Amino acid sequence: MSVVNENYQEQAVSNMSVRRINRVRVLKLLFRAGSLTQMDIKNQLGLSGPTVTQALQFFTGLGLLREGDEMPSSGGRRPRLIEFRYDAFYSAGVEIRHHHVDIQVIDLRGTVVVGKVYRLVFENTAEYWQRVNALIKQTVAAAPVPRPLLGVGIAFPGEISVSKNMVSRSTVLACRNIPLNIARENVENVLSVEYGASAAGFGVVWREPSLQNAVYIVVTNSGVAGSVIVDNRIYRGTSNKPGAFGHIVLDPNGLPCFCGGRGCWSAYCSLRNLTQSEEPDLERFFTELRAGSQAHIRRWEDYLNRFAQALANISLSFDTGIVIGGKLAPWLEPYMEDLRRRVADYPVLSEEELSIRTDTASLSPIAEGVALTLVSSFLDDNLEGRHFDDL
Ligand SMILES: [Zn+2]
Repeated sequence: MSVVNENYQEQAVSNMSVRRINRVRVLKLLFRAGSLTQMDIKNQLGLSGPTVTQALQFFTGLGLLREGDEMPSSGGRRPRLIEFRYDAFYSAGVEIRHHHVDIQVIDLRGTVVVGKVYRLVFENTAEYWQRVNALIKQTVAAAPVPRPLLGVGIAFPGEISVSKNMVSRSTVLACRNIPLNIARENVENVLSVEYGASAAGFGVVWREPSLQNAVYIVVTNSGVAGSVIVDNRIYRGTSNKPGAFGHIVLDPNGLPCFCGGRGCWSAYCSLRNLTQSEEPDLERFFTELRAGSQAHIRRWEDYLNRFAQALANISLSFDTGIVIGGKLAPWLEPYMEDLRRRVADYPVLSEEELSIRTDTASLSPIAEGVALTLVSSFLDDNLEGRHFDDL
């Protein structure tokens, strides 16, 4: 092939990519803004009129945009708003737990349309995954307004291998190297597989684009998990296993942990240990605490002290804000000042500006977070099987 031809081909490819990139820029601008006039889009992105018009026609055809209200005219024709249709598609997120699955269906804004937690004991068999598939369909069908589904994201209580074909380590499910092919063969439309804590951390970043760096902590029935957010992205480490804060050792001679070790943060701060129950009932725990039960007060004191000990270690390691999510978050909120004070009691941290707060925007942060990873890839035109040109 001659040099001229090669250049010609490269030119053609790069023209196509430029068109795709500009299309994505138009879509994402409207996604963030909600609605804009054609002139706003042209000015904000520095694109030509025909490029913007072409992109708007394309996405209107896919049902992602629609014409909105007319705006007051500054002379001449009255401009019309173009609106993003957040309800054009749904995305489904599934959180796998030891004894339950949490299925949440969200729209493109991230608002939960319908969601439910089902009792189903994990086992990596075809029957289990067929049941999960049936529950996903049942949940999606319960949405008040039917919409096409982008796909399904599955989040595990364990880290996913770099190649995404197995759960490399799950202390909660008490397994290692769980192959994911059985799930993929029996659940329709699986487009994303994530470690639960990373999915939840992703959700926080997604909802707060201004959050550049943070450590995200999620407290679950069985322990504590986390993720590290650097420059608005999930930090993945070298083998996709960072943020395993739950097994930071707080006392080498302490409580036995489900990982086989002793004195881990998870052993002290799981909701099971807090409530001393296999099926933690936080409402009941905090009602007893507020009613002045001495046993509950003692347990809560211990809990806050262990939590503060771990947060102090994280603060010292990362020098960044800490966000605490999960179903404990709303209950913890009234005690945050107390918790911060306990962290600041460590002399080395006493002079520091500590940013430790809760994230209560979501009650199913893991299932919603993995569903949001699909929305994010979709808007980037990077979602397997759902490229804009193929829709
Ligand atoms: Zn442990």
